[in-house]
Amino acid sequence: MKVFKFGGASIKDADSVRNVANVLNHYPGEEILIVVSAMGKTTNALEKVVQLFHHGKEGVGELLQEIRESHLAIIRELFPADEHRVHNDVEILLMQLEIICQGQPEDNFNKTYDKVVSYGELLSTKIVSSYLNSSGYQNKWLDARRLIRTDQNYRFARVDWSFTERLVKDTILPGNRYVVQGFIGSDDDLNPTTLGREGSDYTASVLGYVLGAEEVVIWKDVPGVLNGDPKVFENTALLNQISYREAIELAYYGASVIHPKTIQPLQKKNIPLRVKSFVKPDEQGTLIREGSDLEPLLPCFIKKDQQVLITVSTRDLAFIVEEHLSKIYKVFHQYGIRVNLSQNTAVSSSFCINYDPITTPVILDELQKDFEVAYNDDVRLYSVRHYDDAARERVQNTGAILLEQISRNTYQVITQ
Ligand code: ASP
Ligand code: MG
Repeated sequence: MKVFKFGGASIKDADSVRNVANVLNHYPGEEILIVVSAMGKTTNALEKVVQLFHHGKEGVGELLQEIRESHLAIIRELFPADEHRVHNDVEILLMQLEIICQGQPEDNFNKTYDKVVSYGELLSTKIVSSYLNSSGYQNKWLDARRLIRTDQNYRFARVDWSFTERLVKDTILPGNRYVVQGFIGSDDDLNPTTLGREGSDYTASVLGYVLGAEEVVIWKDVPGVLNGDPKVFENTALLNQISYREAIELAYYGASVIHPKTIQPLQKKNIPLRVKSFVKPDEQGTLIREGSDLEPLLPCFIKKDQQVLITVSTRDLAFIVEEHLSKIYKVFHQYGIRVNLSQNTAVSSSFCINYDPITTPVILDELQKDFEVAYNDDVRLYSVRHYDDAARERVQNTGAILLEQISRNTYQVITQ
């Protein structure tokens, strides 16, 4: 069996959903499990809903109306006949979502988040699965809440591998094709959970691992993994092959083509991961597997926008020692924040993190309780793997340099 993953951009409107059917027609007779994320920017829209709903603010109704309209517009185009079952299925989901948002939020913000945001994938999979069936590509719709079992770490849930394995083996049978939501699962009480933003790749990898898939394919709007995001860097080139290890490194530094957690499960079972273009499905794309680091070996550029550079100092000019650092990291850990780069001086320590409208103000407050805190927001972090002088210069010339770090394989710079 193969596992395919289609992200938001590949199903953003009716034409792109039609294109999914076209891509699948290149694989006649193959057993495929199709993992789908929410349509276009639906997850962002639902995040806004949660923010308002959880904090009892106005405007939830209007936002839900927009989400409703965007989905209905797509199904009207894909299924002109009113009596098609999908109209009813989608209506039920939209109503469930609306009812949730008329009720009481959970005490825990992240739990409310998972309850609401999971509807993006439920809606998209109903539409994609129905469309594929109507276009002759027979498949069964699966509910990931009954397939991917996680802990109760809402919004960043961790997979219970053995339980998930049992559920998957009981549900997914040979000779069939399936459509399932990425990004979502459920806890032991069947409360919906999510695996972290952009988590659908990870779902594909979890399912690929559990099923011992022949390969996992992530379908993208780019030809594969390039040595830089073409929207950000000029003259990028396609990487034909990347080792698992190098792919993990690239993802760690923020190469957005692959979700960081995706590689590890596949590497464990030596399952190849392909990143291919849904616009040109005949092209080879990028193959990630055991082997040489990169082919061709080129410097790889990664830019992370919307970074916050926080400098934490002791109040009494004492050296920053392990005791302080462990306090600081405890705060980061508590709010699920990953440090993208850190550097110490005698009395201060700097941390570069992703800006998050929900958690960044909270952690700045927390740190200020014990330390002197200064920060620059809206800075950029550039990382270059396999750098050379020319590659370093390229990123150095992007603005005023606030911090630099260099190791054998990686050069990083924060500019403003
Ligand atoms: N829809 C989710 C998100 O946008 C998951 C994904 O796209 O992979 O974060
Ligand atoms: Mg998405």
